[in-house]
Amino acid sequence: MLEFKNVSKTYQGDKPAVEDVTLTFNEGEFIVFIGTSGSGKTTLLNAIGGLDKIDDGQIYVNGEKITGRFSWESDRIRTLNIGYVFQDYNLVDNMTVWENVAVALRMIGVTDAREINEKVRYVLEKVDMYRYRNRYADMLSGGERQRVGIARAIVKDPQVIIADEPTGNLDSRNTLEVMNIIRAISEEKLVILVTHE
Ligand code: ADP
Ligand code: MG
Repeated sequence: MLEFKNVSKTYQGDKPAVEDVTLTFNEGEFIVFIGTSGSGKTTLLNAIGGLDKIDDGQIYVNGEKITGRFSWESDRIRTLNIGYVFQDYNLVDNMTVWENVAVALRMIGVTDAREINEKVRYVLEKVDMYRYRNRYADMLSGGERQRVGIARAIVKDPQVIIADEPTGNLDSRNTLEVMNIIRAISEEKLVILVTHE
């Protein structure tokens, strides 16, 4: 499903952030990376997400190599297969909850309004945010924002969900709520979660 082969990355003039990592992740697994701040967790996940380039090694998503090819090719593979949940949510503040989620479908080329309506509604109900669908993102609390972030990550039904410290900015009650949602998602998908705690 997701494979790292001898992956290394060194930022300029530093010691390696990630060194010779070989790992295989399979469908339906729930993987947690735990490590102190600065240990290279984000670097590794950004390599999968294409947010950062690696120096050495190969990464395969769903059997397809995403390293060492044209970025439009690897971007296509990633966009179809991977949903990303960010610590700081990365919502568009002046867009509604609904629009923030619909954008992810448009990005993979879904244009049919009825299909978009059905899918967005389904995931917003799943994270209990449907009733806030017309609210602007900057009106939401942290926990609500992250639930929208999760809805956006799952709406295109990717096989892999990557969540980099998704509860890092949340209080304990919202942390529990978000973790319960992520655990439910992990029953169907490969979930890779990063935490320092
Ligand atoms: P973690 O997510 O585990 O906290 P990171 O992957 O963010 O760790 O960082 C690993 C190492 O790489 C750290 O020493 C960090 O300072 C360094 N690093 C991360 N991003 C950059 C960057 N953009 N430029 C230079 N050094 C970086
Ligand atoms: Mg990090």
